[in-house]
Amino acid sequence: MADLGFIGLGIMGKPMASHLVKAGHTVYVFDLLEESVKYLCSLGAKGCGCCKEVAQKSEIIFIMVPDTPDVEKVLFGQDGVAEGLKPDTIVVDMSSISPIETKEFAKRLASMGVKMLDAPVSGGQVGAENATLSIMVGGATEVVEKVKPYFELMGKNIVHIGGHGDGQTCKVANQIVVALTIEAVAEALLFASKAGADPAKVRTALLGGFAQSRILELHGERMIKRTFNPGFRIRLHQKDLNLALQAARSMGLSLPNTATAQELLNAVAGQGGSELDHSAMVLALEKLANHTVSG
Ligand code: NAD
Repeated sequence: MADLGFIGLGIMGKPMASHLVKAGHTVYVFDLLEESVKYLCSLGAKGCGCCKEVAQKSEIIFIMVPDTPDVEKVLFGQDGVAEGLKPDTIVVDMSSISPIETKEFAKRLASMGVKMLDAPVSGGQVGAENATLSIMVGGATEVVEKVKPYFELMGKNIVHIGGHGDGQTCKVANQIVVALTIEAVAEALLFASKAGADPAKVRTALLGGFAQSRILELHGERMIKRTFNPGFRIRLHQKDLNLALQAARSMGLSLPNTATAQELLNAVAGQGGSELDHSAMVLALEKLANHTVSG
């Protein structure tokens, strides 16, 4: 049994950390929200007052916070992980952040004798709760092998993509597919509804054919039932598509439909929806159509 750390106990971090606790490991946890720390402690985790304290007590530290600046603050801010690290500690960042900054973080940690993996995930809240996440890993092979038993408590499909940052690059690619599929499902259901067909029956029919997908299944249902509580917040998907579009621009690559999907998310956020689930992208298309999926 190992002494593990987990920082960031939000929609994803809470269930992920709880799997490590349930497996019998000692898990030292921290989040800016005290109630989230208390919840994990009620399951058997040990609460800490700051990231530094987590680092002092843990052999492997998992991080699951929203964005690149949050990871930087957790690692190198005041009372951050770097202040409490021991040599041979492993830092595993499971947040979805910039591949470029990830390489820099790995370099800074290496200069302190600390190894890092980037290991962003896909599968959403349901995947986190059921421990069926897909985990995309960047970093050295021997470090991946050491952390694999803990990844297996949180996910099913664990793929070592390559060196530092490659896990994050894979996650950005994932987010392009997810955004464009949400847009496709939203346009299809809106089209069916405007044409007078029952969108719920259309969804059921499509789920049995070539157009079937997890997004049609889960987010199609959200669009029909109007359940836009997160889930995966619009502001987080805006962050991921920003990473895609910025990197594409720097590489001289055009991603026209990713840009459109981002504009639709921007429109929903502009109307106060940045905390809604990303399936709420349909709201922007409904405004353009002056028609809703639900009729
Ligand atoms: P969330 O906003 O629900 O949770 C983030 C948590 O991090 C919050 O509890 C917040 O208090 C905490 N936090 C922020 N800064 C901190 C700091 N400096 N120190 C300690 N705690 C801090 O977000 P989430 O949905 O759990 O997503 C987390 C990451 O996982 C994001 O990068 C997101 O893109 C990615 N992700 C989310 C989903 C999803 O479906 N929600 C799916 C795959 C990947």
